[in-house]
Amino acid sequence: MFYQKTIANEISFEGVGLHTGKLCSVTLRPADINTGIIFFRTDRGKMIKLSPFAVVDTSFATTIGYNGSRIKTIEHLMAVLSAFEIDNLYIDVNGPEIPALDGSAAQIAEVLSKAGASIQSAPRKVIKITKPLRVVDGKANITVLPYNGRKFSQLIEFKNHFLGRQHYGITLNLQRFVDEISPARTFGFLKDVEMLRQHGLGKGGSLDNAVIIDQNGVINPSGTRFPDEFVRHKVLDCIGDLYLCGFQIYGHVIAERSGHTTNVKLMKMLMNSCDCYQTFQFGQDESTSRYHATSILE
Ligand SMILES: [Zn+2]
Repeated sequence: MFYQKTIANEISFEGVGLHTGKLCSVTLRPADINTGIIFFRTDRGKMIKLSPFAVVDTSFATTIGYNGSRIKTIEHLMAVLSAFEIDNLYIDVNGPEIPALDGSAAQIAEVLSKAGASIQSAPRKVIKITKPLRVVDGKANITVLPYNGRKFSQLIEFKNHFLGRQHYGITLNLQRFVDEISPARTFGFLKDVEMLRQHGLGKGGSLDNAVIIDQNGVINPSGTRFPDEFVRHKVLDCIGDLYLCGFQIYGHVIAERSGHTTNVKLMKMLMNSCDCYQTFQFGQDESTSRYHATSILE
């Protein structure tokens, strides 16, 4: 936890993008200290440095872009990198979207486990929230509060009586992420599938990579993986979006009816609100060591 981390070995995975329907291959490569997380569109020869300000679209997925080249649906991969505490990484993508795989982050977490971790020689910098910050967008809102750890609380509320209100909270650690959050799949409503297709989205979607709901409940023959799989998936998305700055955020994130748009707004606001956070590195002085000792006991 004190030192920066990259992966030990290069590793690849491939699959179809949920929205574009395009087959894409992703290769994760180790990167030196202080590199951060850098994406490459290898089919276009373009680099996209991860940042909340690189986000160019938040409709139904988080899309980053630079100079006309885009990479869609990065949030599940980002959530895994956050949970595995990967600071430095090159991500080569040979097409427009990160593969959906089974709609969850479970397979990406397996890929990261296989790649292994490499602890680096420089101390890790993290962002410690010192003052509350809040974004309100209609009924959606997201707040981040000072907290000695990485905690996410999420509320979802839908008119669909099968979903209704669900709540989930987690103090992030790798095992809990792998067990409770990474298997939760993307979900959508049957009535929206046609609308998505008309907007050129959801082209790669199927019952193999999304949970689809109608008025009577889940139409996937295998049902759900958890009774509250939906809110767990929103936690997954939130963890991914909150890692857009490439630094772990020590704070309590409380999201109500929030999605990619409000999550990304919060991240942009945070980056512009220097009075609400401190960047520090573990082991920098005695007080941060004490802080570390407090956070791991929770
Ligand atoms: Zn998602």
